[in-house]
Amino acid sequence: MPKETLVMKFGGTSVGSADALTRAVEIIRQAREEWPHVVVVTSAMSGVTNLLLDSAAQAAEGKVDSLPDAEKSLREKHFSAAEALIKDNELCERTKQEIDALILSLIDFCKAIAVLGEASPRALDAVASLGERMSLRLLTAAVESAGIEAKAIESTEFIITNAHFQNAHPDFKLTTEKTRAYLNPLLDEGIVAITTGFIGATPEGVITTLGRGGSDYTAGIIGAVLPADDVWIWTDVDGVMTSDPRVVNGARTLPEMTYSEIAELAYYGAKVIHPKTIRPVIEAGIGLRICNTFNPSHPGTRLIPNSAGNGKAQANGHIVKAVTAIRKQRLVTIEGRGMLGVPGVAARAFSAVASTKTSVPLITQASSEQSICFAIPSESTNAVLDALHKAFAIELMERDIDRVWATDEIAIITAVGVGTRNTPGVAGQIFSKLGSQNINVLAIAHGSSDVSISMVVETKDSDEAVKALHELIVA
Ligand code: ASP
Ligand code: MG
Repeated sequence: MPKETLVMKFGGTSVGSADALTRAVEIIRQAREEWPHVVVVTSAMSGVTNLLLDSAAQAAEGKVDSLPDAEKSLREKHFSAAEALIKDNELCERTKQEIDALILSLIDFCKAIAVLGEASPRALDAVASLGERMSLRLLTAAVESAGIEAKAIESTEFIITNAHFQNAHPDFKLTTEKTRAYLNPLLDEGIVAITTGFIGATPEGVITTLGRGGSDYTAGIIGAVLPADDVWIWTDVDGVMTSDPRVVNGARTLPEMTYSEIAELAYYGAKVIHPKTIRPVIEAGIGLRICNTFNPSHPGTRLIPNSAGNGKAQANGHIVKAVTAIRKQRLVTIEGRGMLGVPGVAARAFSAVASTKTSVPLITQASSEQSICFAIPSESTNAVLDALHKAFAIELMERDIDRVWATDEIAIITAVGVGTRNTPGVAGQIFSKLGSQNINVLAIAHGSSDVSISMVVETKDSDEAVKALHELIVA
């Protein structure tokens, strides 16, 4: 069957300036020639969501002095792009007015927040939504100005979520119905449907957001529910790389990755795509591609299903495909002989950690059960140690637990590749490589994911460790 429907998402930098928008418009024009149905999802212009949320945070502390600056910079950013791209004067003025109304509502929100002295998650979502709502108007007018028939629709009309503000979860049943009802009539007429990423609304119509970086997720949801044939994420790099090019000279784009590999990379700090995007897209069996607005002829990275054939290591036994690091972490250890065989220690430890709203990227426990060790972001160390000392006050007093402590800052290095669990010798390769560079491994997590192996090293060794493991990747 010929491919019919394409969903394209443009990230913040891809709509971040007149130049970027010109490229985005050209990409949309070409897609329009090749695909009968095109849906475009836009992020806020780069930096805008942060600016909006900072303004609200300041307002919550009663500070509104910087509001005029925020207002000015939002106007400049959007208006200069509008003037450069929208040829028709009337359309340009109308677009600017619509954007201006949204900027003024920021001012109103912030003043109200300042009066209340607090910004609720619900208020923060209303504020954060303004970025995408502004870029939607700008991009749509720019597309129309290029002679392409397009229509702007806010995703609050059809991405229906629960009321978990700042991290809302879509109701897939309602969202499917509404998305089809809103978008299909436009698509059938050959109109490019342009919508906001990141935002949705409760069934009552209150604005929510899907979490920071959530525009990718919006594209995944729309792709899955229509359903589309392909979802393309336009960003500012040539797809997913084997490692951070700032650390590793030889880092290069991976032409293909499986869904589970990318999911592991996204969780491990590679920031290429919002991890939640993957699931709806896999379940719907849709093609996903990550590509570069600033280098559109580069094929980028294609995501491929985790089929049986992809689950095997390459014939030469080299399976590492990518290496990433999460820095600024610490390892917390709870240790004591009295923990042996006592049920519930881990449960209590993690609920104490959870009470500080800290998430744990890595956990290990030795079978002796005399210690349990996990990583947390450095900035949460004090809160986590306090919570653990409170939770285990009695055990500490009775010396069932000897010590709860945190290391200096460490980094978690993750090697990603299908088959890390099932291929003999992979761990061997990895540890020999690190050993040969004199890099000491403080902790290891392996086995919970098919596609990754993670090790903890001292911060000073982190770049060397990434470089060394990158050498295991074979072109
Ligand atoms: N604008 C939102 C953010 O900065 C969503 C996104 O760009 O994906 O988090
Ligand atoms: Mg993003």
